[in-house]
Amino acid sequence: MSETKAPQLLRTRDQLRQWRSAQVGTVGLVMTMGALHEGHLDLVRALQGRAEVVVVSIFVNPTQFAPGEDFDAYPRTLEADIEKLAVLGVDAVFAPEAAELYPPDQTPQVAVDPGPVARILEGKTRPTHFAGVCQVVAKVFHLTSPQLAAFGEKDAQQLAIISQMVRDLDFPLEIVPVPIRREEDGLAMSSRNRYLDTEQRQRALALWRSLQWGRGQAGSLPPSELVRQVKQKLEKGVDQVDYVAMVSQSQYEPVGDDFHGPVVLALAAKVGTTRLIDNIRFTI
Ligand code: AMP
Repeated sequence: MSETKAPQLLRTRDQLRQWRSAQVGTVGLVMTMGALHEGHLDLVRALQGRAEVVVVSIFVNPTQFAPGEDFDAYPRTLEADIEKLAVLGVDAVFAPEAAELYPPDQTPQVAVDPGPVARILEGKTRPTHFAGVCQVVAKVFHLTSPQLAAFGEKDAQQLAIISQMVRDLDFPLEIVPVPIRREEDGLAMSSRNRYLDTEQRQRALALWRSLQWGRGQAGSLPPSELVRQVKQKLEKGVDQVDYVAMVSQSQYEPVGDDFHGPVVLALAAKVGTTRLIDNIRFTI
């Protein structure tokens, strides 16, 4: 059996700052909401070749959930998460309480405007989501001062917006994108998959199947028709389609029918009451 050393558990901003000031080499950061799966662990692995130390934040950030979303129900499994990170040799875990990052007597007044990309797709259904994401990411970037931060392509729009924030506001770090980790049958790993019962889990495969079908039509159908047909296919498996869209990888903007280049085909749908997202990258 291999030896594992528990990561240092940091609960407060001061503990994180102190830990950080003792690090000399390249620091890599992975931000998560916990309930860790292999997709999260891929983010850690992506940094381990390049960073001397890796810190993982585990924080269900209230400001990126709207009223009525699953903030209260979101799975919280800190002990099991720490065990998984110990196996990988992660150096530190930053797991603050909400009141630590957002003290009740210090209501935040200054915010990051996540820009136009935050208003389409996910942002249409979740209009305050990306402002909440940028708020917590900016805070944790400042507290951690990482040289590298890994984000998953699973949340492609989030990755695009955070990359833009880093460029526009000169955060002194590099964003490391990490490909989507899938279950054997293709379902993108997600902490929310545990909400699905057996029947729903089966129907959730419609997301990946529709994306694969769409990729197969690249070049033979114009983007608008491809998107329309992917939506039709998806509707047969899930309970509600939120959106299907094709956006450019460079700008994360919906593409016209004359577009050629790298794209993301992205979708969101509900299976039962669980909202799932997925996407695929290819070139047209
Ligand atoms: P979350 O805990 O869902 O907020 O995700 C934390 C980070 O893990 C984000 O950068 C996600 O994009 C990434 N992530 C989540 N699921 C996957 C997956 N299946 N494959 C790759 N990255 C993922």
